[in-house]
Amino acid sequence: MAERMILITNDDGVNAPGLLALKQALEDVARVEVFAPDRNWSAASRTRTFHKPLRVDEVRLLDGSRGYATSGTPSDCVSLALLGLLDRLPDLIVSGINDGLNLGRDVSLSGTVAAAMEGVRVGVPAVAVSFDSVSDRSEMPDYEPSADFAARFVRFLLDQQELPQKIVLNVNVPYAPVGRKLEPRVTRLGGEAYSNYLVTGKDPQGRNYYWISGDPLTKESTESETTDIGAIAAGYVSITPIHLDMTEHSLLQPLEAWIPQIDGA
Ligand code: MN
Repeated sequence: MAERMILITNDDGVNAPGLLALKQALEDVARVEVFAPDRNWSAASRTRTFHKPLRVDEVRLLDGSRGYATSGTPSDCVSLALLGLLDRLPDLIVSGINDGLNLGRDVSLSGTVAAAMEGVRVGVPAVAVSFDSVSDRSEMPDYEPSADFAARFVRFLLDQQELPQKIVLNVNVPYAPVGRKLEPRVTRLGGEAYSNYLVTGKDPQGRNYYWISGDPLTKESTESETTDIGAIAAGYVSITPIHLDMTEHSLLQPLEAWIPQIDGA
């Protein structure tokens, strides 16, 4: 069997500690190639760059190993790799480990999840991995437990004959005190994962600024453990299959009945 290859990317940037932890854990599983943005693109969703050329530089990661930093977004990174910068299509794409959870309706904002989507749209299975770094109050969030779980999950996935098509597997890992085993739950997407509010003030020139902010709602969540938010709140790893088909199938027929009533239709 040909050597298996995994493409790793993220939205926190090529120097993020979560990316390095993921890479080091997955090196035991397969050949790993890193294409990551040269800056932080968190909450970039599926932003793509069409109006200017992109740069790709070979860089040394913090452990001295080779990676590629691009001037593009997370989705650009995956595109560049799949459209020719890798010698062949990878067997799997893993995006992360993100600095912060990507849950519920807010997954559509996520650059981490979007990068994984970029892979599955061309038929390469993809996993997004995010960690509740906010709850890890140590000076440096410890990505090791998430990376270990990701490696076990990826090893399992690569051993399967066939993986679901056009589906991103969105993995979120809670903060767990040292020694506590991480247990996975299969979940659906929950509701809002962050609050939203506006911080206003005046800049040094006296002009108003507006800062859109939010806090995680996971802690107060009363959601059922069948949702990703509820599972995380209860201390489980959540694994949510996310479909690229955003069609609301239940509304196709009711909308059909509207058509004759639309003026001019
Ligand atoms: Mn991020």
